[in-house]
Amino acid sequence: MDTMIDIKGLSIDELERFLLGKGKERYRARQIFKWLYQRGATSFAEMTDLAKELRRDLEETARISTLSPEALEISRDGTRKYLFRLDDGCSVESVLIPEEDRNTLCISSQVGCAMACEFCLTGTFRLTRNLTTAEIVNQVCAVQKDVPVRNIVFMGMGEPLANLDNVIRALQIMLHDDGLQFSTRRITVSTAGLVPEMERLGQSVTVNLAVSLNATTDELRDRIMPINRKYPLTVLLDACRRFPLPGRRKITIEYVLLGGVNDTLDDAKRLVRLLSDIPSKINLIPFNEHEGCSFRSPSQDVIDHFHKYLLDKHFTVITRSSRGADISAACGQLKGKLDALKPSGAGKQIEVSDSTNEVT
Ligand code: SAH
Repeated sequence: MDTMIDIKGLSIDELERFLLGKGKERYRARQIFKWLYQRGATSFAEMTDLAKELRRDLEETARISTLSPEALEISRDGTRKYLFRLDDGCSVESVLIPEEDRNTLCISSQVGCAMACEFCLTGTFRLTRNLTTAEIVNQVCAVQKDVPVRNIVFMGMGEPLANLDNVIRALQIMLHDDGLQFSTRRITVSTAGLVPEMERLGQSVTVNLAVSLNATTDELRDRIMPINRKYPLTVLLDACRRFPLPGRRKITIEYVLLGGVNDTLDDAKRLVRLLSDIPSKINLIPFNEHEGCSFRSPSQDVIDHFHKYLLDKHFTVITRSSRGADISAACGQLKGKLDALKPSGAGKQIEVSDSTNEVT
């Protein structure tokens, strides 16, 4: 079983090479891709336009992995949180945020995360492992069986740019005409600011980039996002300036508003100065509170003032309303079943299973 290649983990170029290695025609790769990603095939037997001999060969040498949700929680606002159990027992979460005609799926790229941002729940757990290409793509495939997905954001668990090879391959599958057929404007990769990897992402694929800035001074960012000690603000913002985006597209700057920490008028002024020559739109995210973390969300008044200041300076600003809060599906609240990995007694238990509706 172990020697079987997971066909869902191959880009189309890799699948072509795999087939050429068997003495098969290159164009078979496109046929197989369509079966996998457009018709949701789960066995080679279904691929009736492939020669029987090829189907048999594939059955012996390859497998088609899938993910099926172990649990699905549906929020009062329609947000759907999926828990996927992986082959090795780890689990990850994906969140579908419904909006009329433009559902957004927030996917995970790692089990846990090594970034250790002070305000983020996932960051309080260490990195367990990278997700494979197939595990990233299969989150989308699984949810699409339930509901149509219009946008994909890599804003679930993990730092996508710390798992760059698998993320790039997954993006190639998502973007391919014979694959999941997403348009480049409908996929956003979000990073805490891994500068060399931002460069490589930009050279490898065309997608939208979101950068989690969250602070306007190195002093604060060093503290709340340790990655800043490696790539400080000037270096990070330079990388933003260099990031290749087609046409008039803008980089999304994410800014988690932490009450009394980064929400003053001075912060807003510094933010304007830092972004003055970067084509950007600002995504304000009022901090989603979670147990065991002392940060608080600012009052609505403070949020409104911050938002308005940026608007007055002619920035495009969105204050992200918290969705799925009642099922812990809001930004920064994903954790999979990571708490099970911690030594007993350590860490607080946060409810997940109580309101879980098992999928049958
Ligand atoms: N590692 C990537 C993607 C995952 S985090 C990144 O850092 O961008 C996705 C977004 O959620 C980031 O902008 C992060 O700053 C934000 N976030 C994390 N915890 C949060 C919380 N408790 N409340 C609000 N936003 C949070």
